[in-house]
Amino acid sequence: MKRRLSTRCVHAGEQPGTSGAPFTPIHNSTTFRFADTQSLLDVIEGRREGGLYTRYGYNPSIRSTEAKLAAVEGAEAALLFSAGMGAASALFFAHGQRGILYLGDAYGGTLELLEDQLGQLGLRSQGLLGHELDQLDAALGAGVGLVFLETPTNPRMELFDIAAIAERAHAHGALLAVDGTFATPVNQRPLELGADLVMHSATKFLGGHSDLTAGVLCGAAPLLEAVVPWRKNLGQVPAPETAALLSRSLRTLPVRVRQQNANAQAVAEALQGHPAVAKVLYPGLSDFPQHALARRQMRGFGAMITLELHGGAEAAVTTLDRLTLIANAPSLGGVESLATLPMITTHHGMNPAERARRGIHEGMMRLSIGLEDPADLIADLEQALAKASCLVEPGP
Ligand SMILES: *Cc1c(COP(=O)(O)O)cnc(C)c1O
Repeated sequence: MKRRLSTRCVHAGEQPGTSGAPFTPIHNSTTFRFADTQSLLDVIEGRREGGLYTRYGYNPSIRSTEAKLAAVEGAEAALLFSAGMGAASALFFAHGQRGILYLGDAYGGTLELLEDQLGQLGLRSQGLLGHELDQLDAALGAGVGLVFLETPTNPRMELFDIAAIAERAHAHGALLAVDGTFATPVNQRPLELGADLVMHSATKFLGGHSDLTAGVLCGAAPLLEAVVPWRKNLGQVPAPETAALLSRSLRTLPVRVRQQNANAQAVAEALQGHPAVAKVLYPGLSDFPQHALARRQMRGFGAMITLELHGGAEAAVTTLDRLTLIANAPSLGGVESLATLPMITTHHGMNPAERARRGIHEGMMRLSIGLEDPADLIADLEQALAKASCLVEPGP
């Protein structure tokens, strides 16, 4: 019988060994010894899943975390990386050779890779924003092997219809890969909706405590087999300690994420209609433009909220600097709430015209809601926004 998500998070993939420890020990070893040459050949040739050499990913701590991640995502297999960008770059190298089409706003590092770096190696890529999807079939027809998207996106929380885009990608012989970092496997199941591959920055919600850097790519085994040599020879495997720490975190993923969803919903609702706030972008609000798609595609609406403040950049900086509980830090997904200004962090290097085209406003503040009591978070935001309210021009 297939066990349910919370049970898989706790138990799937564990290789406790014979010591009586409930979970996989940390195998802090770069190499593994064999009783005889035939046993070594069995591992090299894939007949047995033993340890061999840790940079290959053939280490029980790494493999057991991969088995858990595959079970959590509902995938045939998973590959662990030393960072989310490791997963993204290996994905592009392995499956982007026939051209990459990326949709919407991608994470800054991903965008830099797609727009500046992959081209230097002869890989073609093209981007379409959410309001340009009428050009999707034409772009796919021009020759694309891989479609890549994030949903929800950073920082506008724009959603893409995974099932609809998977169908159109497949009709043109392309694969669909989804960066599911913001949603997590608790809130969104891209493979069940028709995507071929899912990646996450495990640094964020999967790790969940702002104390590890890792990435993961999940999907069918043959698709991941094409990625393995890239990961191996680019040296993108994480340390066994990191793999073990990530497994520790995954055991509590559903309880953390469900509570973070509830806290974010409370914060988003409390800030709606605040005099300093022009817009609250959160998929769980009934007036969010894509709320219907969010309800159809997501099981929970996540912990990421973006505020657009009336007073522009000045109001955003004033508010950020007055927060006392919520920390000014450019990451997300931890148990502690964080705030950041996209203008200053994620979209810092972008020229103003390009920012405007992407709908990135100067008064945007992105929140990652953690596990504090939502009343304390709301109180902190309200006291910080009180100052920004004074910057708003009085109405007629
Ligand atoms: C952080 C992030 C990444 C990159 O992950 P790292 O672990 O920092 O390499 C990729 N995509 C999204 C959506 C992210 O938030």
